[in-house]
Amino acid sequence: MKIAPATQSKFAKLGIHTPFDLVLHLPLRYEDETKITRIVDLVPGETAQVEGEIIHSEVMYRPRRSLVCQLQDDSGILYLRFLNFYPSQQKQLAIGKKIRALGEPRMGFYGDEMVHPKCRVAGESVPLKQALTPVYPTTAGLPQVTLTKYILAALNELALDDTLPEQILRRLHLPDFASSVRLLHQPPPGIDEDALLARAHPAWMRIKFDELLAQQLSMRVHYRERSRRIAPRLAAHNKLTDALVKDLPFALTGAQKKVWHEISHDLTRRHPMQRLLQGDVGSGKTVVAALAALQAIENGYQVAFMAPTEILAEQHYLKLRDWMTPLGIEPVWLSGSLKKKDKTAAAERIALGDTPLAIGTHALFQTSVEFSKLGLVIVDEQHKFGVQQRLALRGKGTTSKSVRPELVEGTNGTQSERLIEHSQEPHQLMMSATPIPRTLAMSYYADLDVSVIDELPPGRTPIVTKLVSDARREEVFERVRAACLEGRQAYWVCPLIDESEALQLQTALETFATLTQIFPDLRIGLAHGKLSSAEKAQTMAAFKAGELQLLVATTVIEVGVDVSNASLMVIDHAERMGLAQLHQLRGRVGRGAAESMCVLLFQQPLSELARARLKIIYENTDGFEIAQQDLRLRGPGELLGARQSGVPMLRFADLGEDDKLLDQARDIADEMLRDLPEAAQAHLQRWMANEPDYLRT
Ligand code: ADP
Ligand code: MG
Repeated sequence: MKIAPATQSKFAKLGIHTPFDLVLHLPLRYEDETKITRIVDLVPGETAQVEGEIIHSEVMYRPRRSLVCQLQDDSGILYLRFLNFYPSQQKQLAIGKKIRALGEPRMGFYGDEMVHPKCRVAGESVPLKQALTPVYPTTAGLPQVTLTKYILAALNELALDDTLPEQILRRLHLPDFASSVRLLHQPPPGIDEDALLARAHPAWMRIKFDELLAQQLSMRVHYRERSRRIAPRLAAHNKLTDALVKDLPFALTGAQKKVWHEISHDLTRRHPMQRLLQGDVGSGKTVVAALAALQAIENGYQVAFMAPTEILAEQHYLKLRDWMTPLGIEPVWLSGSLKKKDKTAAAERIALGDTPLAIGTHALFQTSVEFSKLGLVIVDEQHKFGVQQRLALRGKGTTSKSVRPELVEGTNGTQSERLIEHSQEPHQLMMSATPIPRTLAMSYYADLDVSVIDELPPGRTPIVTKLVSDARREEVFERVRAACLEGRQAYWVCPLIDESEALQLQTALETFATLTQIFPDLRIGLAHGKLSSAEKAQTMAAFKAGELQLLVATTVIEVGVDVSNASLMVIDHAERMGLAQLHQLRGRVGRGAAESMCVLLFQQPLSELARARLKIIYENTDGFEIAQQDLRLRGPGELLGARQSGVPMLRFADLGEDDKLLDQARDIADEMLRDLPEAAQAHLQRWMANEPDYLRT
């Protein structure tokens, strides 16, 4: 197939790089040009095709320049409106012309109208279409006809062999691949249109299954491949770790002990750990991370501990410094906002191996930072980081210069020794308080092992959640005052303004000014993303020490902030926030023994979605339940934050709805890898050829 370079670059924009990509460029929807609807029978909102004569055609200038025509058939008159039009269109729509127009009718100013309908010349010589017309996702300058032409050519030229053996298709009641894609591109007359549009037609099921299967295969292969990579063995000497446990002012919960054993055991193996530590907000993940760090350190390796925000990273730094100084370990702090001189000094200490523990933001993983002997990477709130960053971490270990003797055990000869030196990787511990619903865990995180802390430390009182309309703001002020006068502390979280950082900052400043006026007697602080890290740290330290009673903050405090005397959380304009965010914010209180409360202030009127969200957060305290409901409301893209992170999303399957198909795909993936490795390979090849590293095998 010959494709002009200009067209090729447009294809690239659509993610089409190979002829097979054209085959998988499936219609968004279909247009029904097989019948004509009479103008009287049009239903607003339902796309239809009408045919008639143009009886009026005029360029109007109010409210803006547009071409307005009247189309008449034997039942009535319909207005056609075009905001952008070419002289050629004007000619086509001149008075007296017979036209067929396809579009969505709606009630207009003068009567029923269609805006920008698709028009073609009508007449006896132009027969109606026999079948539905596919409408493809496209890009500027690439008309449907061109796209359709290439797609049909690809369908004809490619050998669309099935990658799945017949017995599996029969068992799952799925049609073969070739006929499925052909049907979706060229639906035969009389097809069940609803099933087609709802993506419930067997042909759709086959495509969705193939996609999920490819993802499952890829994850499996990826997971297995890890056992071919080499990481340092970090033996459980338990000297430093026992010492820390003994020094803690609390005993570890059963759940903390359980996950700590899982992690400790992983670290002793010669293959890189890739473990996700899940635990609801406040479940005590940090101390488990500290123990893991100590196990690496007592084996002579370095640890990098990374958090997504400065506030959180700094908090970890302070906490770990407290814990580790008595053990003779001095962590180093590294963040993007350090002065250049200090940054260089920190990087130098890391490179020389002067410090076993570096804590900071993603600045830790810039190329300029080289570890002398990195054994373990810990990433807090890992969902805030992208896949790219996850991969960058992996790379940090491979530059490791030193090879410990145990690394080469079982091998002989310098050649293999050198090989191992180059492929050494650090272990990875990722942590997240955002629970991952089952279907997501099975698809996007299937290459990780998972440990779950399913128990909160004892002595926590449950948080009371209240939904309060903005009209009753005064009462909330009283609550804030009362809590502070009782010697406790409160957070006031400013409204989220998605569109603009400047506006977000302004809102925070205004909220701070207002609250300062309302509470002249309280000591109030302000934390937002635009403060320098020194200012932020100072404010947080003052709040932690109880010098500030009320902390006005943007969502910078969303993750990890830990002040146990804070017992009241007010979230302003809670209706604007996502569920995971609300859950995280709410988790900032209820960390001490005092009864805690979270007030969700909302602005009337609430949209349907906002109402649903607030109801969920009000009724549920279990993070997993909230996450599952969130997935249903918003879909996986939002939940994973994948827009930033670049995780390839599923294009066809829907994890909220296709969970049965996903289960089947997982089982078949296992079966194929075991019994039909060649078919598995062919399937991966077909579906994953263009995927980024992360998913390629
Ligand atoms: P998260 O899992 O949200 O990161 P943290 O690690 O910040 O939670 O722990 C929350 C608070 O609970 C911290 O103040 C921590 O010191 C405390 N904590 C952790 N484990 C225990 C425990 N077993 N008993 C009592 N308090 C604990
Ligand atoms: Mg935490």
